[in-house]
Amino acid sequence: MAIYSLPELPYDYAALEPHISARIMQLHHNKHHAAYVAGANAALEALAAARETGDFAAINLHEKNLAFHLGGHTNHSIFWQNMTPDGQERPDGDLAAAIDEFFGSFEAFQGQFAATALGLQGSGWAVLAWDALSRRLVTFQLTDQQGNIPVATVPLLMLDMWEHAFYLDYLNVKGDYVKAWWNVVNWEDVAARFARAQNFHGLVTA
Ligand code: FE
Repeated sequence: MAIYSLPELPYDYAALEPHISARIMQLHHNKHHAAYVAGANAALEALAAARETGDFAAINLHEKNLAFHLGGHTNHSIFWQNMTPDGQERPDGDLAAAIDEFFGSFEAFQGQFAATALGLQGSGWAVLAWDALSRRLVTFQLTDQQGNIPVATVPLLMLDMWEHAFYLDYLNVKGDYVKAWWNVVNWEDVAARFARAQNFHGLVTA
């Protein structure tokens, strides 16, 4: 039986229009995300088969495939929840205060996050995360689906910068995609992740 499964979207494919089209959302969820789920399950099966035979000759391939596809499954599962047709313009409460504390202002954070997204070389994600070791908000560029991740971070807000996420709507004008995307950010979801991330501290300190 498959371990990983494709989650339902919390809204219709057309719900994020005009910022992200139904065509992109349908392909993105039903084809791309589904392929990561299938890939992650296939990698787990390959590892189970390797354990059974004791033949670990292809372990590097299996581990790479698991990291890539499980990364894709995880990233998209968060990304869908990070968006809503009823987006607020900006966060409030503890999250807003933390953004001010660690980035100076919400506008400064937006500038840094957009630059992080637009500066990616190749496919990847811009991420706002809680660094549980130093208890700070940080941004970073997640490359492909699994690279360049500081391991003690908890993802709060993720922006898919793979071409499949925007090309049908925005062609090569990534800046317009990022600008439009702010309109559909689900700050309530980001704030809830931020609140839960506070409990992560003890897991990563000595
Ligand atoms: Fe994607």
